[in-house]
Amino acid sequence: MERYHIQASKKVKNYPFLMGQGIWLDSEKLKPNDSVGEVLKHGTLTVGFIGLAECLKALIGSHHGETIEAQNLGLNIIGYMRKRMDEETKKTRFNYSLIATPAEGLSGRFVRMDKERYGIIEGVTDRDYYTNSFHIPVYHNISAFDKIRLEAPYHSLTNGGHISYVELDGDPCKNLDAFEKIVRCMKESGIGYGSINHPVDRDPVCGYTGIIDNECPLCHRQEDDGDTGFERIRRITGYLVGTVDRFNNAKRSEEKERVKHDCGYTMDVE
Ligand SMILES: [Zn+2]
Repeated sequence: MERYHIQASKKVKNYPFLMGQGIWLDSEKLKPNDSVGEVLKHGTLTVGFIGLAECLKALIGSHHGETIEAQNLGLNIIGYMRKRMDEETKKTRFNYSLIATPAEGLSGRFVRMDKERYGIIEGVTDRDYYTNSFHIPVYHNISAFDKIRLEAPYHSLTNGGHISYVELDGDPCKNLDAFEKIVRCMKESGIGYGSINHPVDRDPVCGYTGIIDNECPLCHRQEDDGDTGFERIRRITGYLVGTVDRFNNAKRSEEKERVKHDCGYTMDVE
């Protein structure tokens, strides 16, 4: 609300594109020196969270990828947060919502602060990052389907936005059947926004894009022929990158610890 009040004190002329060009609903009725407060009420005020997995680990010793007990507690916690947003919406008539954030900067900063304050706690502060929103930790071995079915219920609770990732090994074009099964499972489980990550490689010398093992299928050069290696495209918090050099240490170590998700069932989540 404080953030809203700061922004609401601005005038139309401070947002020449968004307000001056009538992008925001009702802004076309305003003059350059009018306040944008009323128009900004059409926007949303979101509260985001990271590290549900670490929170559960701290509270009961397991995260929601490990026990049903943790999953139920996780749903209670996030459900409570959503309820709090709905109450505030009702009370103030502002669009409060709950968002599942990747928190690129915070994911490293919060864990550094907690390490200083509480020391190293296994499964909680012993890594360089906190887990993205309600995600099952990237280092936890779990099948693609179990991950989807465990994360899906959080999608309906996070009305400000959410995403679930599945990490696949190898070339999905060679296993379209499994790929389709994953997409259907996402749909049936209620995943609002799902993503399947798989390796994409590129040879900057000849331009070939696809899966490159040791040898480029197009020009048949090897990775260590010449000075130019192959680019290994990976997805970090929504960005597709050929190298993780420009990301902060937290996100880099998260990427390093990711495990691939196989397409079998390993855990009963009914
Ligand atoms: Zn090539």
